[in-house]
This record gives sequence, structure tokens and C-alpha cells, in this order.
Amino acid sequence: MKRLAILGSTGSIGQSTLSIVEQFPDRYSVVALAAGRNVDEAFAQASRWRPKVVSMATEELAAELSRRLRQAGVTGMDVAHGPAGTVACSTLAEADFVVSAIVGVAGLEATHAAILAGKPVGLANKECMVAAGEILTAAARQRKVLILPIDSEHNAVHQCLRVGTHGEVKTIWLTASGGPFRQLPLEKFDSITPAQALKHPTWVMGRRITIDSATMLNKGLEIIEACRLFDLPPSQVRVTVHPQSTVHSLVEFVDGSILAQISVTDMRLPILYALAYPERPASNLTFDLAALKHLDFEQPDFERFPCLRLAYEAAEKGGAHCIALNAADEVAVEAFLQGAIPFTGIPRTIEAVLASTPEAHPETIAGVLAADGEARERARALVA
Ligand code: MG
Repeated sequence: MKRLAILGSTGSIGQSTLSIVEQFPDRYSVVALAAGRNVDEAFAQASRWRPKVVSMATEELAAELSRRLRQAGVTGMDVAHGPAGTVACSTLAEADFVVSAIVGVAGLEATHAAILAGKPVGLANKECMVAAGEILTAAARQRKVLILPIDSEHNAVHQCLRVGTHGEVKTIWLTASGGPFRQLPLEKFDSITPAQALKHPTWVMGRRITIDSATMLNKGLEIIEACRLFDLPPSQVRVTVHPQSTVHSLVEFVDGSILAQISVTDMRLPILYALAYPERPASNLTFDLAALKHLDFEQPDFERFPCLRLAYEAAEKGGAHCIALNAADEVAVEAFLQGAIPFTGIPRTIEAVLASTPEAHPETIAGVLAADGEARERARALVA
């Protein structure tokens, strides 16, 4: 029985993780839930799963959850709050495995703490790897802690890599759907509205990641995530546009063999893989090969999607530039969604913030968060 701590339990990855636990009750149980702001969902999850600890974003939300649990007669549960509450979840002595699925750098400290506590991590939070991948992977190597990617592309790469050694890898090919604007003429990019950008052709996801897919910055973050997770330079991580999103990624080996991973577009599969690794439990997440007509692959267009170029530049420099890329994008996406800047203002903002970022490699999580805050401030000044 693996006892799970789920960070970001009320989000979409958190809920999918709980549905896997539901399907495999003899394999997994829940001992900690870090829930955030949704008290209704946190109450439902806490009542259903009876973890040892639940954490909410603020003291007020924690008090409200405690009151509702008391009223419902649910006892014996610690209700924590804030960053310390999330860390309490990720380092709980009873937890054997931590699912890190809090969006943004908010989950960084708790993910780092889990690794320091020697707990294997299923990582769905790519911002952690982008902003602090150098620190997290060094800590994991030192303590021999497994980090298993839940991001579908990296999960696919992890699966393909099992057939060869690190030295045998030539190129990691991350597939990208290309987003909704893959074929839109370049001159129309300025007039893209938030409603258009929020319609993703294949995946249903949160708002920021959906916009990041439309600008392809999401793929840019994934390039950096892949460099950190698989310890390869940016020149060995490439992107191929694959509109069907059927092949989740590929690994090309030095002998010329290319391995691909194909499965349903359902995040429960990479979650199950991460939870069960190195085993493969039987599941009902089957893929209908007969329904597959064709697979298209094309080169990404760096002119339509300058975020890809910016991500490669940040990946080369590492450290503060990766932090700034992520932070500036988050601010720019929010400004775009509020109508403050056009779609093309997103890469422009990121480029300007990167240009004013000094080369640096923070060695602590506090240093990463400080650099993140500075980059956000510069981005806010630009979009204002
Ligand atoms: Mg992905």
C-alpha cells in the first residue's frame, strides 16, 4: 500500500489522482491533501478520504473547513494552512509518495521539502522544474530520490528512456499540438482574443496553461523541464508539432532508432505510471489503434511562436533566466486575459524581462523565489 500526499488536490491533476486511488484501493491510500482555496471540494475530499492532514491556502479557509468537518462529525484530522501547511503535507512521516500538482511556484518549497525528506515525487508542476530544476535535481540525486514526471510529454520520454542508457540518447522530441493558431496567418496574431486563445483543440486544462499552449510558451517550459529532468543540454531537446496529440513524445537514440509513446489523451495514465513505477498495473485506459487514421509531424514555426526561441535562450543561460521566463509569462498571460495587452504582447513582455535579467544561478529556494518576485515586478511595470 502506497500512502499518498497530494499537493493541489482540488485541481484537475489532484482530482485525477484521487480517481486513480478510487480505482486501485488495494494499492493506494491518501494521508495528506493540500487543497488551496476551494473549501467545498476540500470538505468533500477530506470527508471521503479521511487523510491525517489537510491544508488550505489561508488561516480563514482552514478555520471554515475545521468548522464544517466538526459539524459533520469528522474528527482526528489536522487542518493546516499556508505554505507551512503545504510543507506539513509533503513531509508527513506517513507519506510514501508525494504528488506535486500545485500550479506555479507556490508548490516549490513543499516539493523541495519532500525531496529533502527522501520522498519520491510525482511531478505535475512544471514551473518547479523550470524555476528551480537545478536545485531540485541536485537534491534528488544526492538523496537518491525519484522524480517521476506526470507532464504527459515527459512521462512519455521517461517511458521511452527505459530501453536505453543516457549516453545512447541523441534527441528528445517533445510533441506539441501546435495550439489553436498553428495555421493562423502571422498578421492576424495581434487581434487574437482571450476567448479564441482559451479554446484548445485537444486538451482541457487550466487557463494559464491553455494560453501557454496557444503561444507555445508551454512547450518552451517543457523544453527546460526536459533538460533538467533528463540531464541533457537544450540542443538535445527538440519540438515537433503533432496536431493529433496521440504520440505524447519520442526519444531518438544514437543508432537511429526512435521510440514513441502512444496512449489516450487522459492524464490519469501518466499519473498511474508515476504512482506505480516501476510496475505497470492493468487499467481501463485503452487506446483504440483501429480508430487511428494518420499521424502528422511538422517543424514548429519560430516566427509565429517567438516564445519557443525565448525558451531556448533561457534554457541555454539557465538559473535566473528560466525563472524570469516563467514569471514574466505568468504576469503577461494574466494581462492578456484582462485585455491589458494583445496576444503578441506576451512574447514582447517576456523578451523585455529576459533582456533586463542579470545572469545568476540562485542556490536556494529563497533565492529562486526572490528572483521570481523581481522578474514579476519588472513584468508588471511593463504591462501597466
Ligand atoms: Mg505537457
